[in-house]
Amino acid sequence: MDDSNVSSPIAQRPVAPQQPPLSKQDALNQFTASGGGEGSLFSQLFNNPFFTAGFGLAGLGAALRYGSQGLRAGASMLRHRMLVDLEITRHDESYNWVLNWMTAHYQNQLAPTSARTQVGTLEYLMRKFTPGLHHLQIKTENVRMPSGSEHTTFSLVPGHGRHIIRYKNAFFAVNRERTGKSFSADGQPFETVTLTTLYYYRHLFEDLFSEAHRMAARDTEGKTIVYTSQTMSWQPSGQPKRQRPYDSVVLEEGLAERILDDVQEFLDARTWYLDRGIPYRRGYLLYGPPGTGKTSFVQALAGKLDFSIAMLSLSQRGLTDDLLNHLLLNVPPRTIVLLEDADAAFSNRRQRDEDGYTGANVTYSGLLNALDGVASAEERIIFMTTNHIDRLDDALVRPGRVDMTVQLGNATEWQIGRLWDRFYAEQDPSGEGKRRFLERARNANLAGNVSTAALQGLFLYNKGDVEGAIKMVDQLQQAKAGQ
Ligand code: ADP
Repeated sequence: MDDSNVSSPIAQRPVAPQQPPLSKQDALNQFTASGGGEGSLFSQLFNNPFFTAGFGLAGLGAALRYGSQGLRAGASMLRHRMLVDLEITRHDESYNWVLNWMTAHYQNQLAPTSARTQVGTLEYLMRKFTPGLHHLQIKTENVRMPSGSEHTTFSLVPGHGRHIIRYKNAFFAVNRERTGKSFSADGQPFETVTLTTLYYYRHLFEDLFSEAHRMAARDTEGKTIVYTSQTMSWQPSGQPKRQRPYDSVVLEEGLAERILDDVQEFLDARTWYLDRGIPYRRGYLLYGPPGTGKTSFVQALAGKLDFSIAMLSLSQRGLTDDLLNHLLLNVPPRTIVLLEDADAAFSNRRQRDEDGYTGANVTYSGLLNALDGVASAEERIIFMTTNHIDRLDDALVRPGRVDMTVQLGNATEWQIGRLWDRFYAEQDPSGEGKRRFLERARNANLAGNVSTAALQGLFLYNKGDVEGAIKMVDQLQQAKAGQ
């Protein structure tokens, strides 16, 4: 018999080691580790690889979700504390300045690079991932002037989407976007440009805007912005034009000065008007045959006062009373309104009375209402022109609607002499040519019978040629006969 089997029952009794009481979790661990309880729900679940994988994934998902929420909250807090946004809507005056400034800023920086004909891959990638305007938008404007001529202009501006620009060592994220699907009254979509930079650099916004404003002012310095009506609002028609010198339009002696004095007095009397509750506006009516300088004079006056012009022909088809009213209530600042063919509103009335015609044209009462409705704390200077004063109604020529009526007639002898000086001062310093020209003009009875436009045409044709101009006086006489 094996010794091992012969032992005292006392010695054989295994001595149970002193165990601490088990916790619930340890009990569970032991239970599952020892294989005890095999077939129980727990063990089935925990031994199931799909279950444990799913459990893990769910845990991971939750962790990620809480993590990303935390990150987002952190980023938003960081953003809130460290970044600063500046939003400009399309209706703000600075909207176009800033877009143009951005293009110019980058064109300057890219000039040497873009001058190269070949762009290598590395350079392309560098450009792609370096700050800059990676997509531009072309802005084409087709503008029909009241005179009927059409102008097309192009300009490049940063396109919609995100851009990064670098300015004075700071980075600005720029986001140009359409907001919603709505359109404003003038048919343009609502848009914003948002500039974001570090809070630390917020003072640079001011520098950036001053630069953009200076650039916009430089573009219009010595120039006249001409607005025309486009889809319900005044829009600049093409690039600003060089200011027309005031004395380049030769009116009858002293007349241009008289009108200028009147406008200047009106501009100086702002508080006088406002204190008395009188609408701060002044209306002028220029009448006379075509080609006597009515339109040109208003352009020259705008240049002299450093004002813009908003031009509109009342004979323009599609111009309704409501639109005229809307336009007169929304004139850009420092702008003279020029309403051409004022008689059209009255002709429309006649036609309506005769034919029962109700076209989409401005009416007589529509014009009067629109003029009366002009009320603004800013000055409103309205010039109306007509070739047919006889077609106007007395109701128009009333203070508040028309405060000053001026006739511009055909060229007088004084005007002929002045226009001669403007064209031939260099070639004819002694005035000998002028004397002969005026003598022939007198013999041909031209004074008061030819328009200043016809006279200017003759001088332009004989640019720098005194004798040629003198010889052609007779042709002006023929033009007069043909009138
Ligand atoms: P209106 O409006 O009276 O029909 P515009 O102002 O359109 O005349 O003039 C037509 C052209 O003739 C313009 O080129 C303008 O420069 C020239 N012109 C007409 N009148 C004058 C004037 N008094 N002085 C200088 N140029 C004139």
